[in-house]
Amino acid sequence: NKTSSKPHVVLLASIGMGHLIPILELGKRLSTHHNLDVTIFVVASQSSAAESQILHSAMTENLCEIVELPPVNISGLVSHDAALFTQICAIMRAIKPALRSAISGLSFRPAALIVDLFGSEAMMVADEFEMPKYVYFPSNAWLLALTIYIPTLDKVVQGEYVDQKEPLKIPGCKAVRPEDVVDPMVDRTKQQYLEYVGMGMGIPKCDGILLNIWEDLQPKTLEALRDDQELLGQLCKVPVYPVGPLTRQLKPLDSRSGELFPWLDKQPSESVIYVSFGSGGTLSLEQMVELAWGLELSQQRFIWVVRSPTRKTGNGSYFTAGSGEANSMASYFPEGFLDRIREVGLVIEDWAPQVEILSHPSVGGFISHCGWNSTLEAISNGVPIIAWPLYAEQRMNATLLTEELGVAVRPNILASEGVVGSKEIEMMIRTITVDKEATHIRNRVKNLKYSATKSLSEGGSSHNALSIVAKKLELRWKTMEVNAS
Ligand code: UDP
Repeated sequence: NKTSSKPHVVLLASIGMGHLIPILELGKRLSTHHNLDVTIFVVASQSSAAESQILHSAMTENLCEIVELPPVNISGLVSHDAALFTQICAIMRAIKPALRSAISGLSFRPAALIVDLFGSEAMMVADEFEMPKYVYFPSNAWLLALTIYIPTLDKVVQGEYVDQKEPLKIPGCKAVRPEDVVDPMVDRTKQQYLEYVGMGMGIPKCDGILLNIWEDLQPKTLEALRDDQELLGQLCKVPVYPVGPLTRQLKPLDSRSGELFPWLDKQPSESVIYVSFGSGGTLSLEQMVELAWGLELSQQRFIWVVRSPTRKTGNGSYFTAGSGEANSMASYFPEGFLDRIREVGLVIEDWAPQVEILSHPSVGGFISHCGWNSTLEAISNGVPIIAWPLYAEQRMNATLLTEELGVAVRPNILASEGVVGSKEIEMMIRTITVDKEATHIRNRVKNLKYSATKSLSEGGSSHNALSIVAKKLELRWKTMEVNAS
């Protein structure tokens, strides 16, 4: 291979919108702010229209080279009913040969490989090419701490985590309540648990971990990860770089067609509640009806991104992208709902331009499943949250937002364990909009917005952290050039 005219870095995204978006944003940032040539390998999946659109828009921006790796067949590798987490791990393991040949085929020799949390096994490929490898953990420091500590918990905790009487202690960090553990920890006999322990062992083998937070968001947890006098720091010997919040950037006039934005433009400042459960979250029919009543009772304006309900009754904490029942929207709601809310509410099917909505001055609250991208998009726009975790690591995110950061309220029961009633929904909406407490919550989220913006600006902590990584890559590239000449 030749070397390029500037350092070239290769990124590997694992499948799923929540993983693709952060890698694309990191790639763009490295290219626009740190003068690197960036190639992003994405794993072709049966992607949704929204996923194809995001990919297409990233391709046309032309800031990074985006290359789709051929799809892999994992049907013989995992059982057909394996959890999504297990499937992603299997796909990322099976992608190694394709990644290897894609890297060999590049006309320039990359200075490093950056993978996401599911890509730790693909780091072996970087070793074969004698490249440094980094992990972009597109989430927060508390989840990273738990992930790195899980192999230790695996040795010391007897029985199921969810049955423990005490919260799970992680040195120097907030303990994790048994009911908050991430989905792969819920049943230790399942393949996804073994995969998660493997992930915890694999991640610290890289040369540095990038996090989608900023120094001031979780200073204590970052200190614990860096404290080599304590077990956690000893398990995580590599540098941790908080480089966020990296969220999708608005493009002028992007997705502004239709009735949505003209409607939003007419609403009073910070008056609209935005309701969305991520790229795949769905509720049960029963829960949708309660939510509809709750929104109506609150008498606040709202935009609700509605996905067809799950077939299950009771709770509906599922990731079911594309598999909801097709039905007329009106049939999910209480009778007459759509007519009654005509003036105050907008209902959008399936997918909405979330970043554009959250950054609109009329939006003043977000009922969110607390996926980390959605969380950062809310904070970056100073929007208070009603935390409604459904799956994956979202229960921990909700706890972080309510108990540590004070920018959210949440239902008394876990939405994954029962149905949140309309009265409680109404009260939560009032707490973040019109009650006395609302001002405090709003001030706290605005302060976080300010510290996030500062960290990303020239000289800010996140900007500096990514500059350090970029400088390391530049140094390596220069050495490669000298060796090649
Ligand atoms: N998103 C969107 N419109 C929607 C639903 C989701 O633009 O209707 C985007 C959202 O802005 C975020 C991502 O999809 O960037 C979802 O990622 P997150 O980590 O919040 O949740 P996940 O979908 O991975 O559970």
